[in-house]
Amino acid sequence: YSPVSAFAEPTERDVETTLRPRRLDEFVGQPRVREQLDLVLRGAQQRGQPPDHVLLSGPPGLGKTSLSMIIAAELGSAIRITSGPALERAGDLAAMLSNLVEGDVLFIDEIHRMARPAEEMLYLAMEDFRVDVVVGKGPGATSIPLDIAPFTLVGATTRSGSLTGPLRDRFGFTGHMEFYSAEELEQVVHRSATILGIDLDVAGGAEIARRSRGTPRIANRLLRRVRDYAEVRADGAVTRQVARAALEVYDVDELGLDRLDRAVLGALVRSFGGGPVGVSTLAVAVGEEPTTVEEVCEPFLVRAGMLARTPRGRVATAAAWLQLGLTPPPQAPG
Ligand code: ADP
Repeated sequence: YSPVSAFAEPTERDVETTLRPRRLDEFVGQPRVREQLDLVLRGAQQRGQPPDHVLLSGPPGLGKTSLSMIIAAELGSAIRITSGPALERAGDLAAMLSNLVEGDVLFIDEIHRMARPAEEMLYLAMEDFRVDVVVGKGPGATSIPLDIAPFTLVGATTRSGSLTGPLRDRFGFTGHMEFYSAEELEQVVHRSATILGIDLDVAGGAEIARRSRGTPRIANRLLRRVRDYAEVRADGAVTRQVARAALEVYDVDELGLDRLDRAVLGALVRSFGGGPVGVSTLAVAVGEEPTTVEEVCEPFLVRAGMLARTPRGRVATAAAWLQLGLTPPPQAPG
């Protein structure tokens, strides 16, 4: 399960590209990160240097990749894109690094999933713009230092907690991405509707925004699903009524909880009496990877006030019981 691929056909990924904001002032929301980043970029530009390395952390779909592209665009630099899992061997990273041109932005998505040897190579590259390439094997192996062009690394992670200390310390700035408010998501869907030529009224936009789990990627996806419904079963215009009917078909509830969110809450309440229960146990109960439950599902349920993380495990709040139509036990946190 991934909220990214839940409905994503290949052509829809192209749509996602056309919907990406290109400049910092087109990027909706995240006022803190935007202001902080703006200072980092301008400061560096005034000094005529590449900016410090940037780490962006937060749940999937909040705009980390978009922001990395914006950083490159604002700097007038080229961007090279890769991901932690793709850098299995240090040699893969060495090749990438040695091809960089001065001022380039290197974006590494899911940087917490990089293999150890590559990560260690990255330390030196980030700090001294140098890599040590090992040639040969065994006792005859030698390490050849290689200068690389000064660049800016932008790392993205859904779990900054699992980044190693040495890697985290080498970033000069960390932007913590927050879930978006309903008002911000309204701006996102109206912007997207304009780009895609969708006839969306104010109430329709509000309905989609409210049910998008605080996540622009989900807002854009729901907009496209609602458009399908509007074109097939109505006259093409997206009104509140059309949006509500369409979201019903796609199993998105009033709060924007999707099937996995509801499964997790349901298991927590029905199978474990509301908790506390460990996240791995909970993941097994819903047939999902613990990382998916932890990185995709939980952050939103915590923000929605449905789930609390305690030292002894996950606990359902009174709101979660009520959401499932059940009476909360007295010990359920409020
Ligand atoms: P992440 O890298 O955090 O998973 P992305 O940058 O890929 O997220 O964003 C997913 C989609 O959501 C993008 O294609 C873009 O259309 C949209 N999006 C994300 N953040 C914003 C924003 N602040 N304003 C407008 N659209 C956004």
